[in-house]
Parts: sequence; structure tokens; C-alpha cells
Amino acid sequence: MSQLPWQSQLQHALNERKAAGLYRRSRLRDGEQGVEVVLDGQKMLSFSSNDYLGLAAHPLIKKAFIDALEREGVGSGAAHLLTGHSRYHHQLEEALAEFTGQQRVLLFSTGYMANIGVIDGLLSKTDVVIQDKLNHASLLDGGRLSDAQQIRYPHADMSLLHQRMHTAAGSRNKLIVSDGVFSMDGDIAPLPEIMDLAEQHKAGVLIDDAHGLGVLGQHGGGVIEHYALSRQKPILVGTFGKAFGTAGAFVAADDMVIETLIQQARSFIYTTAQPPAIAAATLASLKLVKAENWRRETLQQRIKQLRDGAAQLGLPLMPSQTAIQPLLIGDDKKALKLGQDLEKHGILVGIIRPPTVPKNTARLRITLSASHEAVHIDQLLHALERSYVH
Ligand SMILES: *Cc1c(COP(=O)(O)O)cnc(C)c1O
Repeated sequence: MSQLPWQSQLQHALNERKAAGLYRRSRLRDGEQGVEVVLDGQKMLSFSSNDYLGLAAHPLIKKAFIDALEREGVGSGAAHLLTGHSRYHHQLEEALAEFTGQQRVLLFSTGYMANIGVIDGLLSKTDVVIQDKLNHASLLDGGRLSDAQQIRYPHADMSLLHQRMHTAAGSRNKLIVSDGVFSMDGDIAPLPEIMDLAEQHKAGVLIDDAHGLGVLGQHGGGVIEHYALSRQKPILVGTFGKAFGTAGAFVAADDMVIETLIQQARSFIYTTAQPPAIAAATLASLKLVKAENWRRETLQQRIKQLRDGAAQLGLPLMPSQTAIQPLLIGDDKKALKLGQDLEKHGILVGIIRPPTVPKNTARLRITLSASHEAVHIDQLLHALERSYVH
């Protein structure tokens, strides 16, 4: 059969992507997620997971999962609004409302779905959404899906956000949207300033704290606890696939926002609820996240060790106080080569290139976990010293 025109276009685009060093593929992992992983059959020391507190294979979380599985089976069988909403889901929502200090919580099956659901569910054509340029793809997609007017501001630039708010003055409802901790940069959003600007311009604020929750704050309350934000709280999206070590996501907000999402968020309404055992596992994880502050302290020690060592070696780590410690390289192929070189020595890091990050800002995304030992950080630093070419 001859190829259709669009098929040869697809082939051409794939070839171009390959030639540009931008081709992506999945690696095959065997065994548990952890600091040491077997990837494509090779044992590796991993700095490439979002399991920041080392909870993904924790025995108590596994046990909660198995116990719930024995009681309720695997599938939830239906969407939340039909018969899919189990007692475990309900308990998790209540526990998260208490944890976040917000009135209500609504579970979503993934963070991606929470983000598109919350923006699309709250805004319509006459509204405007104002986003940080480096926001996660799911937030940008949520904005597009909503038909609201799209405005972006340069990363964390509060004076330009202020200007953009003036531009948006005529629109009915305004929502400022930002990552709490930026996923490819590791820096923390200037939340107090964002809240001030929002108040001044009568705008709502939505914070996606996928990488701050569990990691920042004495009790793992994320960017909100980090800044000790006490007055008006933003609408909060949190995810469980990272520091919580499980899967799924939630939106925390006031009663009216949550009720609106239940009625209008299509990615909540038209999808099967997560397996109840996942909610049970996340409940167990939440207890550990709150109680075991030593995990955050260990993580901070490893971060300091890496940053001190990198400074001595003159390595351009980007400014970050979080588990995400990117090494800025710039050129795509150079980043690929360095990443592959580290791999040959058994060290795994994320190789991040456009379009995930802006052009000429390819980087190695090094992520640390409370499960890393000091000797692991030494190994990483030695490997970087050997492979990094100034
Ligand atoms: C990972 C991530 C998401 C998506 O969460 P999933 O549960 O993996 O779909 C959303 N926002 C940010 C900032 C993320 O890093």
C-alpha cells in the first residue's frame, strides 16, 4: 500500500526530530522505583525520579494498598459521580482538606487531568487566564481548552505580571496560574507577591504544587507552608505521583469552587475513579509525609552537599532550594552527550531538551531523594567532574 501524504509528512518530522537530537523514547525499568534501578537491563544509580521522599516502595504504603485491595478489589468500576467513589476516596479527601487547611478537596485521577479540569471547569470565553511562561504543559493545555483569553508573563516577573493584569482589566474574571515549584527549573514561585497582585486586581490564584508538596515546609505543606501564607489561600493542585510516591491528584479550595468543579470539570466527570486501593495507599503516605520530617531534613542535607560540591567544581547548577537541581548545558546535543556519558558510568539523570524547556536551555535534570545517601552524591559529583567539559 502506498503511503498517504500525511504519513510521509509524519515520517519526515520523525527523521528531523532524530537528526536534531530531540527524539524521545521510554526506557524499560525492572523492579522497584528507588535510588538504584535496573533500566534496560543495566543497574543504575538514579537521579531521575520524582520520588523525593523515598516513599514509592515504602512497606506501610504497600501494606495499606494490599489491605484495601483485599477488601475492595482492583477497579473502582465507575466515575466518582456514579458508583466509583469509595470510602477510601472520601477519607482521603477529608484528610487532605485538613492537611491543606482548605474547606474542601476533590480527587482527580492524574495531575494532568486536575489541571485541565480546574481551569476549564472554572473559566469560560469571557474570562482571562494569566500564566507564567514556564508553567507545566497541563496548565497551559487547561487554559487553551477553556476558551478563556490566554495571557502569559515572563517567568516569575512580577512587574510584567502587574502590567499584564492592567491589560486584562476589562475582562470579567481573571485567574493567575503558576507552578509552586517549577518542574524543570526547581525554583519557587514568588507566591506572596502573586497573592498581593491578585488582591489588588481582584483576580483568583491557582497554584500547582506538584513538586513542593511533601518537600517544602515543616509538615510538607509545600509552597504555602514555605511562605507561611495565612490569609487568603490560592486554589491548590497537588499530585501524588511525586513526593507521595503513589498516583493521582487533588484540587483543594473553598466549597463553591469544589462544587463548581464537580458540576463542570469534564476531566473529573467523564473518567473512571482511581482504584480505591490507590486512595488507601495515599492515605498511608499522607501520614508519613506529615510525620516524618526527617525525610525533608535528609533531602535538604543532600541538596546542600550537591550544591557545595558543584560550586567547588564550577558546575552551573541552576538556583534552586528544592529536590530539582538542574545543570544548565544550553546546547541540545551537548546535553545528550553528557547525559549518555554519565549513563555509561552507571549514573542516570534526566536529559531535558526543547520543547520541554525553551530553546538553547537544554539541561540535565538532577533530582534528589531522601533515599540518597551521602556516598551517592559523592559518586554523582565524581562522575560530573570526569564527564563535564567546560
Ligand atoms: C507531574 C506534574 C503534573 C502532572 O501530574 P500527573 O499526576 O503526573 O499527571 C502536573 N503539574 C506539574 C507541575 C507536574 O510536575
